[in-house]
Amino acid sequence: MHTQTIELLGSTPGQRHTLTVLRFGPEGGPAGARKATIQAALHADEVPPLLVAQVLKRRLLQLEAEGRLLGTVQLLPFANPLGLGQQMMGHHLGRFDLRDGLNFNRGYAELAEAARARVVGRLCTDAGANARLVREALVASAAALPAETPAQDLKRRLLQLAIDSELVLDLHCDGQAAMHLYALTPQAGWAGELGALLGAEAVLLATDSGDSPFDEACSRPWLLLQQALAPQPLPLGCFATTVELRGEADTRHDWAAQDAEAIIEFLRRRGLVAGTPAPLPPARCQPTPLSGSEPVTAPAAGVVVFHREPGERVAAGDTIADLVDIETGEHHPLKARSAGVLYARSATRWAAPGKRLAKIAGTTLARTGPLLSP
Ligand SMILES: [Zn+2]
Repeated sequence: MHTQTIELLGSTPGQRHTLTVLRFGPEGGPAGARKATIQAALHADEVPPLLVAQVLKRRLLQLEAEGRLLGTVQLLPFANPLGLGQQMMGHHLGRFDLRDGLNFNRGYAELAEAARARVVGRLCTDAGANARLVREALVASAAALPAETPAQDLKRRLLQLAIDSELVLDLHCDGQAAMHLYALTPQAGWAGELGALLGAEAVLLATDSGDSPFDEACSRPWLLLQQALAPQPLPLGCFATTVELRGEADTRHDWAAQDAEAIIEFLRRRGLVAGTPAPLPPARCQPTPLSGSEPVTAPAAGVVVFHREPGERVAAGDTIADLVDIETGEHHPLKARSAGVLYARSATRWAAPGKRLAKIAGTTLARTGPLLSP
């Protein structure tokens, strides 16, 4: 294991944040070797990924010692040191940068156009050679990104570290949730495979979720370049996914071990870990479009009483929660419009108007605009 410590742009003199990057793999492997990146808790208050990362570290050390790693696996055991330190009056606030309110997992640089400018006119009929050129162009484009604030610097560094990976797993969790993940629509096959290994209850697909989250900043340039550079052939050179490791209170050693093993098995299936993959367990869900994911939203303020648990199948018309008016005592049932899996719900029980209380992976809605929570 090789440890790299990256000093981030400080916000005030005397304050220092560092990013830790652990690299596992064959010593002195060839330049341009295959690479996977796994990072934990970009939303720094999402704790289960921090636990899974520690199990992954132990497992990767073992695999490295046994000579079973066939490429580089890069692990960021805590990807957001800025957010980790954001404690306010007894609460850990790690989703948004307290400096400007921006979400740590939105607004990543979209590198397709910069990379296109570097490779246009240089591609040939060999898809593999084109992929190598595009990967170099993405690395060069990421290296040129500016940063003025500590959070911009963090985002730039994370993208620079991951952009040449063929696999990127961004580990998060939701409020109260079943295992679920997000990926690009044309990569439904791999997303479904990872979902089956993890026991995901929902796999949500989009070609553009809006607001450029980290995973899409890594994978989407390939899709855009594939279209922009046609008819020259280009594979989708990066599979990136946001994995939601259940709910924020779901820290359990047995689950962390199981999740880490599923991730290692996915690496094995992708040829980054030696050995014959085990048979794929039956999937618990089919991938569904993120545009069909239904947010159940509070129309007014009130106390939330849930009727349904994360992971449950619900039918259109089912009451998901009651909203209790604290002036009149009236109960307002909040019903599902679509059938599907209730894959996440809020961890708090007070609703302000407009608060998203639950999410249902369905197939009948067709939302437009930004598809992710703010
Ligand atoms: Zn998150």
